[in-house]
Amino acid sequence: MHVLVLGGTTEARALAGLLDPSMKVTSSLAGRVAAPRLPAGQVRIGGFGGADGLAAWLREHSVDAVIDATHPFAERISFNAAEAAATAHVPLLALRRPGWVPVAGDDWHEVASLAEAARALDGLGDRGGRVDRVFLTTGRMGLAAFAARPEWFLVRSVDAPEDPMPARTEVLLDRGPFTLDGERYLIRHHRIDVLVTKDSGGAATAPKLQAAREAGIPVVVVRRPPVPEGIRTAATPEEAAAWALRV
Ligand code: NAP
Repeated sequence: MHVLVLGGTTEARALAGLLDPSMKVTSSLAGRVAAPRLPAGQVRIGGFGGADGLAAWLREHSVDAVIDATHPFAERISFNAAEAAATAHVPLLALRRPGWVPVAGDDWHEVASLAEAARALDGLGDRGGRVDRVFLTTGRMGLAAFAARPEWFLVRSVDAPEDPMPARTEVLLDRGPFTLDGERYLIRHHRIDVLVTKDSGGAATAPKLQAAREAGIPVVVVRRPPVPEGIRTAATPEEAAAWALRV
């Protein structure tokens, strides 16, 4: 049995190690990160050439099951996977870690896109004032949405972002998991007024939410795009590995 894991996440790496040893496992990475952490088993890197390219790849490599374990915000590859799996008649499961939920003391402002997140900064100052110091943790892709903003940004990403980006930007190159103490320090040290994040879910990057709550600062949360219609989902790598055994 040949399982293709569409990866790029902590869960995808865990899943590759959990799949039954009798299975041939190929993990696929987009190639966005210069030095990715590699999963167990075979790895291929780079796009497939759209849904048609992926469908052809599934046929050529006699894939029996696909697990889309990409990041909840990697919308295009998930739609391509749904289309390709249908075309090639290969069963597909989407592995999606649960989203975060606000708790007492949180001041969340949920938005539908990065562009809306940028606009939301206008309304966040105390008593009609402006927020000025933004901790932006939405990744290096998509900074263009904030390029025209006047605020100062601490941009944290794995690899260096490219222009366009806000005029007043400090880049912090780092990769999770992050600690609560580390996040508290960043918010205090940089006198952060607001945190901007995607609803990525998972434990590795969650401490920033608690640190923001403790500091009493608002959080702009970009909601997730939906999983393609009709696609079965699993919440954990263990659940996904069990599904592969049943295919
Ligand atoms: P995307 O917009 O959904 O995909 C853009 C294109 O990249 C796809 O059409 C596909 O190219 C290629 N691609 C994406 N994931 C791939 C994979 N696992 N294997 C082979 N090709 C892939 O994706 P994205 O948001 O740029 O994210 C790229 C990768 O980074 C994903 O694999 C994701 O798991 C990971 N990641 C994303 C985020 C995020 O916030 N978006 C955060 C952490 C990690 P073709 O059409 O040519 O096949």
